[in-house]
Amino acid sequence: MKLPSERGGWWHAYVCPAHGVELDHVDLLSGEFPAGGAPCSYGCRIDTPAVRGAWTVLAHQACAAELLSQARAGEDVTADLESYARLYASAAAEVDPGVQSWMLRGTLFHQALTESIWAVTIARAAWPARTPAIAELLRRLTDAAAEARDKLVAEGKFTSNYVAWLTAAGYLCSRDPEWLEGEHGLYNHLLAATSEDGWQWEASTYYHSFVLRAAVLATEGLTVPDKVADRMQAMGRVLDNLRFGDHLAALHDGPYRRPGYTAELVELGSPRPAPNGVTVCATYAVLRTDELLAIVDFGPHGGSHGHRDKLSLYLYGRDAWQPDPGQVPYGHTGWRRYYASTAAHPTFRIDDQEQAECTGRLIEATDRSVTVACDDAYPGVTATRRVTIAGGELTDELVVECTDPRKITAQLRPGVPLVVNGMTTDWGSLRGEHVGPPEFLVRPGPGPADDPQRVVQQVDWSAYDATRATFSSTYRTEV
Ligand SMILES: [Zn+2]
Ligand SMILES: [Zn+2]
Repeated sequence: MKLPSERGGWWHAYVCPAHGVELDHVDLLSGEFPAGGAPCSYGCRIDTPAVRGAWTVLAHQACAAELLSQARAGEDVTADLESYARLYASAAAEVDPGVQSWMLRGTLFHQALTESIWAVTIARAAWPARTPAIAELLRRLTDAAAEARDKLVAEGKFTSNYVAWLTAAGYLCSRDPEWLEGEHGLYNHLLAATSEDGWQWEASTYYHSFVLRAAVLATEGLTVPDKVADRMQAMGRVLDNLRFGDHLAALHDGPYRRPGYTAELVELGSPRPAPNGVTVCATYAVLRTDELLAIVDFGPHGGSHGHRDKLSLYLYGRDAWQPDPGQVPYGHTGWRRYYASTAAHPTFRIDDQEQAECTGRLIEATDRSVTVACDDAYPGVTATRRVTIAGGELTDELVVECTDPRKITAQLRPGVPLVVNGMTTDWGSLRGEHVGPPEFLVRPGPGPADDPQRVVQQVDWSAYDATRATFSSTYRTEV
């Protein structure tokens, strides 16, 4: 392994500008940016300052992970940690001009958040510090975490997911329990940033798991207060309930799947089977049988990580039939806008316009059905969705009412090859029958965000110049 000699940039720039896919993770332990550029799975080679900076972030993170693994295997990692101490000191001596103005700035990386993630791994490899130089590195990292955390607290952003990682880094670099137990420590952060049902307030699978992972790593081997332990368990149950087989619903902002994410999830512990039936949280309703998993989005928007997907119906089973498509890295603005949009989601749309950022409401939940509504996605429009499960069958009734005649569309957004035959849909291992407005508009569109170039058939099912439309669908799993 050779450490990169440069400081890191912003990892979200590691995306192909042509294809929107995350670039391949190559040569991360070589110390050298790939000759000819970072490869895209479609054959592009990208070499720009931003992509170099992003690759360097991934390389530093991979080197930190390798150092931790070596340290845990009893190997002496002193020399590499001292190299990092020197690199950090030199990075602190001059400001990186590439840092974007909105970022909470780091020293070795553009973002303090990125630095704290790296620091969590480094601290675990380095503790207890073996030499004065390593002790100095940990002290600097602690001070940097304190400065960034205090800035967020002063801005009223104590529930920001950054705080989870900054406090985890602060604790692991200093082992000062104040980082966990203090007023602005990790424990109070967790309790403030999640609701009693366990969901992190941004209602994104990725950022939820991100915060939980910071907490799990920071408290490894510790006994945490009962209230915090209960909340962490509730956070774990949230993730368990978003899984079906190999599928994990990628709700709101975050990757559909990406290298390393699966390994990160493994650090959270073994998934436990979630109970069948209906679970309603502040953010989503989850309906589960042995054959399928349905998730209906009706809760708060979720801040900057929310998507305009209110009343979306996500469906998983043997295949990811109709998944939340997830999101591409920040570095591709066009695809990011698409995947955050109403157009990308299996929900309702009025006059081909985007939903407002809004919150829906729960009308009723039983042990096999849920009814939710949304009044604020469009002015003068109320939509109600009722979803019922029974074994391998799911019925969905979406009713949209408008004060004036509008184009009302129900969207099917498959993650699998879809074959449409009249008003029936074949999703491979799922079949749908649809009753309502008499025609479909079927056309190719992008599938999940891990590869925006993968084309699937999308269905826009519309009523025109209508003040009311009812879209009824029955889905059955194919044995
Ligand atoms: Zn490409
Ligand atoms: Zn989404």
